[in-house]
Amino acid sequence: MSKAAKPCIGVLAIQGDYAAHAQALAEAGAEPCEVRQPEELAGLDGLVLPGGESTTMLKFLEKRHFFKALQDFCRTMPVFGTCAGSILLAREVRSPAQRSLGLLDAVVERNAYGRQIDSSIETAETSLPGGPLEMVFIRAPRIVEIGPGVEALAYREGYPTLVRQGMVMAATFHPELSADRRVHRMFVEIAAGIRAV
Ligand code: GLN
Repeated sequence: MSKAAKPCIGVLAIQGDYAAHAQALAEAGAEPCEVRQPEELAGLDGLVLPGGESTTMLKFLEKRHFFKALQDFCRTMPVFGTCAGSILLAREVRSPAQRSLGLLDAVVERNAYGRQIDSSIETAETSLPGGPLEMVFIRAPRIVEIGPGVEALAYREGYPTLVRQGMVMAATFHPELSADRRVHRMFVEIAAGIRAV
């Protein structure tokens, strides 16, 4: 397959469920690769920031002088943040406030649905073609505000759970843990340039 047909997508592999993302990306038609240092961003067509613990990822990024390089990459290339990754992407993080990349015009509230025990699997309508979408929430954040340039593709209790702002995608749930590959396929298409704006 040519490079255009199979985009090379990195997965930030510091902590969290990056292996499940790599698998999901491969199933969605991409060539995944794990990224642990700034140099590994070179040549990628896109990047996934996985779920896990945003505070831990943030500490690592700051300690390894990786924050700025990541921000620069994500300003110009497709990026998809899921759960903790969506927290990293947001313009503003609440409860508690923490530093973020500021690439998604959204305000995100951490652990908004309660503790680990309150994690759940929901099925909801989505504007993605193909019918309702399963969404796995694990100590999930809630997107409480989005800017005018942000499109919401699915909701939970009236709050967006899947959003897109140009080349930036974010989900407050874990699409990599469901069998449905529509969400990853959408990102792979953006990275392949098919849907890039
Ligand atoms: N609660 C985590 C955080 O605040 C996110 C949980 C997840 O990614 N599943 O970073």
